Amino acid sequence: MRLALFGPPGAGKGTQAKRLAHAHGLTHLSTGDLFRAAIRQKTPLGVRVTELLAAGELVPDDVTCGIVADTLAEIGTRDFVLDGFPRTVPQAEWLVKHLAEAEAPLDAMISLEVPDDQIVHRLSRRRTDPATGEIYHLDFNPPPADTDLATLVHRSDDQPEAIQHRLEVYHEETAPVEAALRAHVPTVEIDGTGTLDEVQARVDAALAAVGEA
Ligand code: ADP
Ligand code: ADP
Repeated sequence: MRLALFGPPGAGKGTQAKRLAHAHGLTHLSTGDLFRAAIRQKTPLGVRVTELLAAGELVPDDVTCGIVADTLAEIGTRDFVLDGFPRTVPQAEWLVKHLAEAEAPLDAMISLEVPDDQIVHRLSRRRTDPATGEIYHLDFNPPPADTDLATLVHRSDDQPEAIQHRLEVYHEETAPVEAALRAHVPTVEIDGTGTLDEVQARVDAALAAVGEA
């Protein structure tokens, strides 16, 4: 199955995408992860997007769609879950057309709904393990007790100023994507609050509702 997880920054897209990928054998395609890998490797793309990510600005659509096109070509006919893409209406329109041409449309979009005040708490306490890609939260999904916290990454865009800006960008540019995609893709909105397991159970129920589980 081909899925898209949608929602504001910090909604739990990465967390649930990893669980879906593990449970259903899907390839996890996160545009944020692709950009951060390019930044780490200092590729021309990485150099170009470093400041945009740090400030919580979106990467231009042509660049983003280009990297998604390349990654989808690598994925071939395997099933996938999109995380953090599409994030603008032009990206959504590009994706629908691109997948239609490949005769491989999205089977479902799951939209995770979480209020802004919870987002701020989630993002400011998010930590990631660069070695494993694991996503932790210091309160809600803490790392194992023997973890050296100094080895975990506190993302530069998870600082208060960038979080506020990303929320503004989400409401202005990304929230309208849901209506744009809904016209083409079976869509289920789910409550993204509660424990990680509770949200996962709702995602599974949503997939069952659209006949994909
Ligand atoms: P996104 O990819 O949408 O930005 P993440 O999956 O990275 O979101 O989650 C953001 C932060 O919130 C992480 O610290 C993660 O551990 C935490 N988190 C994810 N799901 C939940 C949940 N259901 N309840 C509380 N915290 C959560
Ligand atoms: P989160 O879901 O926590 O906001 P992501 O890892 O999905 O974080 O994205 C991090 C950053 O990468 C975004 O703030 C933006 O700068 C860039 N980015 C990721 N996906 C896209 C996209 N589809 N379009 C434009 N920029 C993107």
